[in-house]
Amino acid sequence: MRRVIIAGNWKMNKTSTEAVQLVKELLSKISDVKDVDMVVCPPFTSLESVAWVLGEGSVKIGAQNMHWSEGGAYTGEVSAKMLLTIGCQYVILGHSERRALFGESNADVNKKLRAALATSLIPIVCVGEKLEEREKGQTEHIVRDHVLGAFEGFSAAQLRRVILAYEPVWAIGTGKTASPEQANEVHAFIRNVLEDKFGELLAKSIRIQYGGSVKPENAASLLSQPEIDGALVGGASLDAESFSRIIKAVT
Ligand code: PEP
Repeated sequence: MRRVIIAGNWKMNKTSTEAVQLVKELLSKISDVKDVDMVVCPPFTSLESVAWVLGEGSVKIGAQNMHWSEGGAYTGEVSAKMLLTIGCQYVILGHSERRALFGESNADVNKKLRAALATSLIPIVCVGEKLEEREKGQTEHIVRDHVLGAFEGFSAAQLRRVILAYEPVWAIGTGKTASPEQANEVHAFIRNVLEDKFGELLAKSIRIQYGGSVKPENAASLLSQPEIDGALVGGASLDAESFSRIIKAVT
């Protein structure tokens, strides 16, 4: 049984004060939620203050990125250990904005994944095609390339705690969502790719979130699909009411 995981990617939004306020509001709305993994991913500057508010409660904290190196001359970067020591349990890797705006390649994602898995961080690895790639019929090719590129050199056992997020780039922040059936089809395809390369156990057990304009209005239909194990939510996670309604849509 794969446990549903809903994660909020706050991107470059919220000062520390605003972040604390948002997470307090969120906590007041989800106190009765059970059986769902919940994660918020604020900017680096708010991780520590949000971690203090969350404490040992049911909402966990994640970072939006990290560097693969343990430390050194990497101006502007942070390491896995730095994240862990301020209370992070998750880290988003290979988000399409990192790929498109900061030139992150599959090889970079692979190195970051290795560094995250060398610690106890739980990586959320993002994959997904752009609009022109979908229109050219390249969705499967791109998604396979992202998954196998990120997972290159790992064994099934090493990948057990990894979470994948299928995020069609054309659906991110655009208000366009993949239909539940479209998303489910790609998730099923990802499981086939994983089964071929890593075997049935990993393919069946790995959790795959959907991301791309998930809102309270469409969450239930997406989350009811058999291959969709949760959501990675951008815009709607910046509002406690919307994010809590998405979390509650699981049940
Ligand atoms: C995201 O950035 O991961 C995302 C899914 O954004 P949005 O929900 O705003 O489309």
